[in-house]
Amino acid sequence: MAYQVLARKWRPQQFADVVGQGHVTQTLQNAIKAKRIAHAYLFVGPRGIGKTSLARIFAKALNCAKGPTPEPCDVCDSCKEIMAGSSMDVLEIDGASNTGVDQVRELRESVKFAPTRGQYKIYIIDEVHMLSTAAFNALLKTLEEPPAHVKFVFATTEAQKVLPTIVSRCQRFDLRRIPAALIVERLLLIAREEKVALDEDAALAIARGAEGGLRDAESALDQLIAFRGDKITEEDVLAVFGLVARHTLESLAEAVLKGDVPALIRIVADLDAAGKDMQRLLLELLDHIRNLLVYQCAPQAVQSMDILSTQVEVLKVQAGLANADRLLRMAEVLAATEDRMRFALSRRTLVETALIRCARATAVSIDELIRRVDDLQVGAGGAPAPTTPPPPASGGAVPRPAPAARVDEAPTGGYAATVRREPPSASARAPAVPKPVPTKPPAAPAAELADLVARWHEVIDQIGKNASLARGALIDARPLEVTADRVVIGFDPEFAQHAERMRMTAHHRAAQQVLSQILKRPVNVEYRLMEAQGQADVPADHTADGTGPGLGKAAPGKGAKTRQDWLKDPVVRKTLETFNGSIVDIRE
Ligand SMILES: [Zn+2]
Repeated sequence: MAYQVLARKWRPQQFADVVGQGHVTQTLQNAIKAKRIAHAYLFVGPRGIGKTSLARIFAKALNCAKGPTPEPCDVCDSCKEIMAGSSMDVLEIDGASNTGVDQVRELRESVKFAPTRGQYKIYIIDEVHMLSTAAFNALLKTLEEPPAHVKFVFATTEAQKVLPTIVSRCQRFDLRRIPAALIVERLLLIAREEKVALDEDAALAIARGAEGGLRDAESALDQLIAFRGDKITEEDVLAVFGLVARHTLESLAEAVLKGDVPALIRIVADLDAAGKDMQRLLLELLDHIRNLLVYQCAPQAVQSMDILSTQVEVLKVQAGLANADRLLRMAEVLAATEDRMRFALSRRTLVETALIRCARATAVSIDELIRRVDDLQVGAGGAPAPTTPPPPASGGAVPRPAPAARVDEAPTGGYAATVRREPPSASARAPAVPKPVPTKPPAAPAAELADLVARWHEVIDQIGKNASLARGALIDARPLEVTADRVVIGFDPEFAQHAERMRMTAHHRAAQQVLSQILKRPVNVEYRLMEAQGQADVPADHTADGTGPGLGKAAPGKGAKTRQDWLKDPVVRKTLETFNGSIVDIRE
C-alpha cells in the first residue's frame, strides 16, 4: 500500500476516535439519535484539533446506508466514498482558497438538486471566515431557507470574523485544545502500531511542540521518523522543534527566582547559541510561572493540571522561592515582553532584560517595601530645602492633606508604591483652603489605557494612514499613560530614534488626531523613553513642532509642582533609586 502520512492514516473515523472533544461528539451523537439535526453547524477551534475530521464523521453519520446513525458503518458505499473524498453528496470547500463568490454561486446552484446516494447534501466549508463578503452574502441567502435535504458544516479558527448573521443560523460548537496527556497517549499508541520506539519524555516534547494540536503532533512524529528512523529520543524532538529541554527551563526558572543573574545570563546565552527559539522560551517560562502560581494558590488544582508527576516535584521546590505577588509580577513582565518580541530585532536582549527584571526588581515583599518607604521618610525628615515646609502663615492651622506622588517602577517590573509626605511648600495663601480637585477624565483612564494597549496595532494602523512612517516608529512603542488631556507613549531607549521621529510635525499631528478621536476628547501626545533600570523616565517635549493643533490643556493649578520638581525632591529621588522606579502619575 502506498505511503500515507500518519495524520491521514490515523484520522479518526468514528466519533469515539476523536481525541479530547467528548463534549462535542456526545452532543452530536445525541442529536442524531433524537433526530434533531440542525441545518447548519459551526465548529470553532484552533487548527489541527479535528474540526474537519469531525465534520466528515458527521457527514458519514448522516449519509450512512444505516443512517442517520451515531455510529457510521464505514463499509457502505456512502461511508467509503466520504472517506475517500469522492462522495457527490458531500462537498468540501476550503474558504482559504475559495474566497471568491463564484464557488458559492456554484454551491447555490447545486443546492437545488437532490442528493445522489445519501439522504443529505452536506456542504463542509473549512476556514469559513476567509470567504469574501460577497461570498458570505451569497451563502447567507441559502442559509436563510435551506432545502430540507441540505446541511452545512462550517469550521473556523476565528469565530469572531464570521458574520454574525451566519453564526446566528448555526449550532455552534467550540472544540478545545487537546491536553498534552491525551496527545501523549495517542502518539504512544501510534508509535506502538507503527513499530517505532518512542518514550514518554519524547512524546511529551512532541505534544509541547504541537501546543494542543493533534494533527501537528502527528505530522511532527512523521517528520521525526523520517529524520531518525524507528527510534526517537527527547533530544531529537527538542532539536526539531527548537524547544528547550524541560530541565533547562526549570533551571532557568530557578536562577530567576533565586535572583542569580549570572546563572540566568549563562543559560540564555547557551540556549541562544544552540539556536533555540527565544519567544518560545519566554512562553514556556511563562507557563511554568503560571504553574507555580497555581501550585501556590490552589494546590488542590494541580491534579487537574496538564503536567507530569515529575514536574509537580519541581513545582513543590520552586514554589517556596517566591510569593504569589512576585510570581504575578514576573508573569506580567514576561507577558509584556512576549508581546514586544514579534517586532524586536534582538530577541535575546529582550529576554535577558526581562529575566533580569524578574530576578532583581521584585526581590522584596510588599511588607519589606512599606518598611523601606517608612525608613526613607524618617531619614529624609531633616533633609534641607527646597522641600522643608516653612511654618504655616496662620499659626495653628491644620496642615492640608498632603499631596501624594505615586511612584511606580519602570513599566514592566517591580512594585508600585505610594509615597505620602508633608506638603512641599505650604504656600502662604490660605493654607486651610484645599485646592480645587482637578477635573476627572470622562472614563476611567486605566480602562482607556488597557483598551489602547489591547488595540495598539489597530491604533497605529490608523495613525499610519495619515503618516505612513509613523507606523514603523510606533510598532515598538506602547501607551504608558492616559489622563484627561494627555496620552504618553513609551519607547525603549533602544528605539530612541523612533521617539524622535514621532516628534516630527506630521507624525505628531497624526498621532494626536487619531488618539483624540479614539478617546473622544482632545489629548496631547507625549513621547517618553523608558529606562530599563535605574533612573526615572526621561520626559520628552510633547509639542516639539510648536504647531500642535492647540488642543485643550486642562492647565494644572499654577502652584502645582511639576514632574521635574518632584524629580528633584530628595525623598522621591531616593525612592525611585531604591525601587528602580519612575513617576507615572502625580496626584493631589
Ligand atoms: Zn455506512
